[in-house]
Amino acid sequence: MKEALENLREKADHEIEAATTREEFLDIKTRYLGRKGLLTELLRGLKDVSSEEKPLLGKLSNDIKKSLLEKIEAFLAHIEAGARDKALHEERIDVTLPGRGVRYGKVHPVTLVESEICEIFRTLGFSVVEGPEVELTYYNFEALNIPENHPARDIHDTFYVTDTVVLRTHTSPVQIRTMEQQSPPVRILSPGKVYRPDSDISHTPMFHQVEGLLVDRGITFGDLKGVLTFFLREIFGSGTRLRFRPSFFPFTEPSAEVDIQCVMCKGTGCRVCGNTGWIEILGSGMVDPEVFKNVHYDTEDISGFAFGLGVERIAMLKYGISDIRLFFENDLRFLEQF
Ligand SMILES: [Zn+2]
Repeated sequence: MKEALENLREKADHEIEAATTREEFLDIKTRYLGRKGLLTELLRGLKDVSSEEKPLLGKLSNDIKKSLLEKIEAFLAHIEAGARDKALHEERIDVTLPGRGVRYGKVHPVTLVESEICEIFRTLGFSVVEGPEVELTYYNFEALNIPENHPARDIHDTFYVTDTVVLRTHTSPVQIRTMEQQSPPVRILSPGKVYRPDSDISHTPMFHQVEGLLVDRGITFGDLKGVLTFFLREIFGSGTRLRFRPSFFPFTEPSAEVDIQCVMCKGTGCRVCGNTGWIEILGSGMVDPEVFKNVHYDTEDISGFAFGLGVERIAMLKYGISDIRLFFENDLRFLEQF
């Protein structure tokens, strides 16, 4: 029995020495020390040995079991540690690699120019006011002295929702709504989307307008010229030459269109300015007393001026863009340039 135990220990030690993988060690463990293992089987014969031999053989078999288990566990622990080191090594992060770039959004060129316009007028004490895009015909037309038979009210020039509701054709209704709520002085700027059934390289059915209104005691055409000259020179540069031309709008009297010297050819004449050297940039005028009457302002006491301009038009001239539709096609190659 003692000899059988020593033989088993020797055989097991050889196998442990030869083993390399986790599976091999686990196999040895099961084959020798498992419930039906070789050592366990051998110990069944312990009941047949004499009572003098029993304690000695019992101790020997326990020693063998303990030493085999210790060796196998030690090798297994070594293998696990090696596997962990290897995994850690593979997971290692190279902190010297360049970072992945983050793509930032850009402000749309129309929004960019609109903000710039608003900022210039804020420095002159104007506040920004917004109003509904779906508007009553009263605010879009009647209150602004645009009579029933005016061509601007034709269905070819206006999107009608119902007979008395339209998509606003300008942001001027905001001026009426403000004056209804507020006594003079008034100094507002109303930016926003407006709608007209036009579509070609210089018109889109929806575009952006900024309108301004200044009402106070003793406001003259000189104030209008001063404010618009300051504004246009802020936008297009301090040397920009201006021209005020008499014009007509239902809600202003007298009215003037304002031209700037062509930004492309500097006045010598080119395709953009139709060889005139001038570019029409905004409409303006002294508010018609009829408009003030509609909001119950005392026309003997106060006066004011109003103006309106297209944001896309300013952006096209500022950035040299020839087709207005580019603003709304959402081509990233275009939008990312601003
Ligand atoms: Zn030109």
